[in-house]
Amino acid sequence: MKVSRVYNFSAGPAVLPEEVLKEAAEEMLDYRGCGMSVMEMSHRSQMFDQIIQEAEQDLRDLMHIPDNYRVLFLQGGASQQFAMIPMNLMKNRVADYIVTGQWAKKAYQEAQKYGKANKIASSEDKTFSYIPDCSDLPISPDADYVYICENNTIYGTKYKKLPNTKGKILVSDVSSCFLSEPVDVSKYGIIYGGVQKNIGPAGMVISIIREDLITEDVLEGTPTMLTFKTHADAGSLYNTPNCYCIYMCGKVFKWLKKMGGLEVMKERNEKKAKLLYDYLDSSKLFHGTVVKEDRSLMNVPFVTGDKDLDAKFVKEAKAAGLENLKGHRTVGGMRASIYNAMPYEGVEALVAFMKKFEEENL
Ligand SMILES: *Cc1c(COP(=O)(O)O)cnc(C)c1O
Repeated sequence: MKVSRVYNFSAGPAVLPEEVLKEAAEEMLDYRGCGMSVMEMSHRSQMFDQIIQEAEQDLRDLMHIPDNYRVLFLQGGASQQFAMIPMNLMKNRVADYIVTGQWAKKAYQEAQKYGKANKIASSEDKTFSYIPDCSDLPISPDADYVYICENNTIYGTKYKKLPNTKGKILVSDVSSCFLSEPVDVSKYGIIYGGVQKNIGPAGMVISIIREDLITEDVLEGTPTMLTFKTHADAGSLYNTPNCYCIYMCGKVFKWLKKMGGLEVMKERNEKKAKLLYDYLDSSKLFHGTVVKEDRSLMNVPFVTGDKDLDAKFVKEAKAAGLENLKGHRTVGGMRASIYNAMPYEGVEALVAFMKKFEEENL
């Protein structure tokens, strides 16, 4: 069978390393001589135990996760954390939210179900095109945590500096920048993300939680399955986890290690993003929609300023093997997601196509 791959700029589920997909294909029918695929094996088997243990260890190595943090592989995606976090952390029933996009807004709205969620800063006044100054925010004295979405997938902004939480616990959704660059895990109470953006297949979230935040003291009525402690005590095997997804993520962790780790990924990602942003800054047809200093390395939104021309671009790009460049339905225009697994050549092909399109349409 002839295999033909496109350059996939989808925001998520998104491109995965070809090497990883090939390896998974080779192991599909018979995983390392056990005569079955990972999809068919017991999550209590020794084979799977090795898969999940190695995945966790490799993630710990990549992110230099301190020993007093637990790594949980959970279901329900990033969205389920929007509820799980207040249910587990809102001891005073107060939390502060910085709203920099749709995902932060959804988390903020969900938290309102469980207590007093304060919107202490927002960039909604300018269509979330920047990150507000977070150096001296009105942090609530009794806030159980301060919440951010660190990379705004839809709008293409990223915090370049973490907010000053004035000693409060920082909770961060890193779904779309997970493993894109080194982070200091010790600065966070919880750092979590859905894996379908930059790591693996859809349907799982990895939540890295400081040990002392995992307690039985959760909001009354919190379901067993939504209590962090349930999963921490059971090593993410309280119920049947998303076994295949854990296996795939584990392969991506090994690929990242082989590539040289997160320092190298950061360099690669900066180089890719620079190519595209430099072109956007010089183009007479296309322009980026985000304040320069807050630009994401992962999600790059851009427009021509003409809806019909945007649509024409997306259509012709697709015909040229550059897929999923349509912007989010709430913002329009275009968006190129250039995650870890997008090769430099993919961005080169995109920029070459944009140049050609500009010549033909200006
Ligand atoms: C995609 C995304 C989510 C939602 O993820 P699900 O796994 O679909 O729930 C949440 N936060 C951010 C930043 C995202 O990019």
